[in-house]
Amino acid sequence: FPSLAEFDPEIYEAIQNEKHREMSTLELIASENFVSKAVMEAQGSVLTNKYAEGLPGKRYYGGCKYVDVVESLAIERAKQLFGADHVNVQPHSGAQANTAVYLATLKPGDTVLGMDLTHGGHLTHGHPINISGMYFTFFRYGVSRETGYIDYDQVRALAKQHNPKMIIAGASAYPREIRFDIFREIADEVGAYLFVDMAHIAGLVAAGLHQSPIPYADFVSTTTHKTLRGPRGGLVFCKAEHAKALDKAVFPGVQGGPLMHVIAAKAVALKEALQPEFKEYQRQIVKNASTLAQSLTKHGFNLVSGGTDNHLMLVDLRNKNITGKEAESLLDEVGITVNKNTVPYDTQSAFVTSGIRIGTPAVTTRGMKEPEMEEIADIISTVIDARQGEALDEARERVKTLTDRFPFYTD
Ligand code: PLP
Repeated sequence: FPSLAEFDPEIYEAIQNEKHREMSTLELIASENFVSKAVMEAQGSVLTNKYAEGLPGKRYYGGCKYVDVVESLAIERAKQLFGADHVNVQPHSGAQANTAVYLATLKPGDTVLGMDLTHGGHLTHGHPINISGMYFTFFRYGVSRETGYIDYDQVRALAKQHNPKMIIAGASAYPREIRFDIFREIADEVGAYLFVDMAHIAGLVAAGLHQSPIPYADFVSTTTHKTLRGPRGGLVFCKAEHAKALDKAVFPGVQGGPLMHVIAAKAVALKEALQPEFKEYQRQIVKNASTLAQSLTKHGFNLVSGGTDNHLMLVDLRNKNITGKEAESLLDEVGITVNKNTVPYDTQSAFVTSGIRIGTPAVTTRGMKEPEMEEIADIISTVIDARQGEALDEARERVKTLTDRFPFYTD
């Protein structure tokens, strides 16, 4: 076969351009990261050719000797890293992982209590346009208007009122540590399953920097591509008693053949996460987020809940008279990538929003530390205050200086 560059120069060029974009901008999207060469090598391997429906040792296809090695290692490493009884490493994505948990536990029409999307929850936690919201009856808890922290008293009161079959903890835009022990207490009080979606914080949990949901929850899902720094994909952990139901729900419940090349890449990322350096990396993510939050506050930005305990912060832009949509595109112009995000009790639509979400996993992978976070806060502040003119050109230069100082994917 000819090479990609020879056979398909359009796709080749788009990939090269994306690599340049990733390296020449400041990637502050809280759910993104840069994987290692080893992870990419595993994902770009011959394992993409193999069908392997079933589980290691119990496949519906021949020729699975080596993919069994791969999947067994992924399973062992995931269990070791998180201290879990059981894991299924096949979900193609976080959304698939969550759908499998619902299929394993709920019947259409069952009642579920999850976090309000406009307060930080995820689409798969009951949005009306997601299968979760279409097939199940969701009630929603949120954060306190005064503090920006999850209101556990409200969670308890709603649980008692609606008697849900499942309670979901976990978020896409919540900057504080989540108390899974309190969620467990509440779930026990009403006899509900506790399902934790730790997609955003999985790396922090693996490093022991955030309370682990594993001892408390019946099911725990995660994506592998956020703080965990693996390939795009999902994992689901559960207590031993739910193992059969979970495995059946993933396949044949919601998926067909597993993506063995992605499972190999997950195994590599999990091995990386078991190394001592990974703990240091996660510690630096949190230190960087804390410094960035403090620096933004000094520049007059309001942060939801007043700061962060984890890898992300939610900036409420209302005092700066700019919407999240405008701020996202303004920052994009100077090479800073963030995403607009509703803030709790937002009066703007999800398409416009009053806030932006900022995260430090990707810039930390590049090696940036506290001084660079102060510089980034200063650039963001300058851009949002100036909105146009020379200040934007200067900001672009400052972004270039920073990204040049921290090269990545150099070959
Ligand atoms: N769960 C949470 C909490 C998330 O933040 C996300 C992604 O943003 C997902 C699930 C879905 O993951 P995926 O995009 O892989 O389907």
